[in-house]
Amino acid sequence: MNKMNIFVGGKWQPGRGKEIESRFPGDNHLVATLNSASLEDVEDAVIAADVAWRKPSWRNLPPHQRAAILYKASTLIDEKCEELARLQTLDNGKPWAEARGLVMSAASTARYFAAVCEVSGGELPPRRHPDLMTISTYQPIGVIAAITPWNSPIASDMQKIAPALAAGNAVILKPAEATPLMALKLAEIFEQAGLPSGLLSVLPGKGSVVGDALVRHPLVRKISFTGGTNTGRQLAHIAADKLITTSLELGGKSPTIVLADADLDLAAHGVCYGIFSSMGQACIAGSRVFVARDIYDAFMEKLTCLTEKLIIGDPRQEHVHIGPLISPAHRQSVQSYVDLAIQEGGAIRLGGKVPADPALQEGNYFCPTIIEGLSNHARACQEEIFGPVLVVIPFDNESELIQEANNSVYGLAAGIWTRDYSRAFQLADALEAGTVWINTYKVFSISTPFGGFKESGLGREKGLESLKAYMQQKSLFLAINPQPNRWCE
Ligand code: NAD
Repeated sequence: MNKMNIFVGGKWQPGRGKEIESRFPGDNHLVATLNSASLEDVEDAVIAADVAWRKPSWRNLPPHQRAAILYKASTLIDEKCEELARLQTLDNGKPWAEARGLVMSAASTARYFAAVCEVSGGELPPRRHPDLMTISTYQPIGVIAAITPWNSPIASDMQKIAPALAAGNAVILKPAEATPLMALKLAEIFEQAGLPSGLLSVLPGKGSVVGDALVRHPLVRKISFTGGTNTGRQLAHIAADKLITTSLELGGKSPTIVLADADLDLAAHGVCYGIFSSMGQACIAGSRVFVARDIYDAFMEKLTCLTEKLIIGDPRQEHVHIGPLISPAHRQSVQSYVDLAIQEGGAIRLGGKVPADPALQEGNYFCPTIIEGLSNHARACQEEIFGPVLVVIPFDNESELIQEANNSVYGLAAGIWTRDYSRAFQLADALEAGTVWINTYKVFSISTPFGGFKESGLGREKGLESLKAYMQQKSLFLAINPQPNRWCE
């Protein structure tokens, strides 16, 4: 198998770092090998990026022409949708139908930021003096380090590349070590779309080596990170030392609430999708469910019945709901959390183990798992498992419920199932979460800001304002009727 090249400062070349592999989590066969970026590659990419974003041909390019490159990239992604979805499935095991959805969302993200950059402008603050006018403009920041996790690469990569380029910056993308393929493909697409050389580099490799060198580089002026809370905290320290801005999209342990008046069928379908799609490897997975005691048995029966019907299998097949976890080590970590939950007094209602199907033994599969009988203080209810594991907790009254739902270091998302929208609004208001879904779950809109409360993150991605997170504001003062300032006379 030929080794793949990486993309450094506009050049496709072998990485000069350690060898890394992409393996298909469905059977762990080798999909690709490549050498990761070295520290020299980081240096070359940053220098090239710093030269590229300062070039007048990019700095003075009118926004609609930057937008044209993003529109072209989105068209290419649409055209290659099937190929990209298959690649995504091979790289991280996401069921093909979900992978296709992510590819389409990446194309929309590019289109959205193209449109936003075409129409975004500066501001004319109200005048405070007849002889003075002020203008507030927005300028690019410079070289952006974008660091992404393995669970939804094409979507999280594009959520950083598109606004950063639309705002006139250069971007260096460091994808997760396990999933470099989609990021490299995106580099190819932007090259074909006509992005000038040096404005995008893709540096696969270990976070503690390549990622660390990248964010510490003096010419890197912003860190845009999606990943675990512990890593995010480390990066925030580095950013604080350098006095640069960060945006951090971090972990979650999102509560979902099923009130007694909920449409149980709707709620059971939503809860099932909210936790088990992407095998629970989603920051917004609805992994803690609080159910009103009056309807607990009826709801659990429906949820269990639906979950039992989920098809576990090769994610390359169209009808499969549950593919493999990213790696054998991650499956072991999920299994350890299930074992811990049992030690903490939990009872397994469903799953809790590796599927018995002989055809699945080479892959990292784990059965969708439902655990009951735990208190919200248990570690399995507080820590992010990042797998297909749902804990279900009955509740008796709403004030306790709010306290328990908010009793988490995280605050990424929450779900509410009820027919009473007035109660839903009151609950949504009280929940400490950046996103609250009411009678739906895990649906997104690129025009709606997304991000976390508490240890789930800092800053917002998506939405009109998120373009400005990749820009810095500059104020101009214009004398309308210039007069000498005679204070020294
Ligand atoms: P991770 O934090 O281990 O790694 C994320 C990225 O950071 C990878 O590219 C990794 O190589 C890099 N990295 C790791 N250590 C680094 C360091 N010291 N310096 C610089 N870079 C470093 O996370 P993961 O296991 O890849 O992803 C899962 C996590 O991501 C979960 O916690 C999940 O909730 C979170 N996530 C959050 C969102 C969101 O939008 N809030 C979306 C997806 C995933």
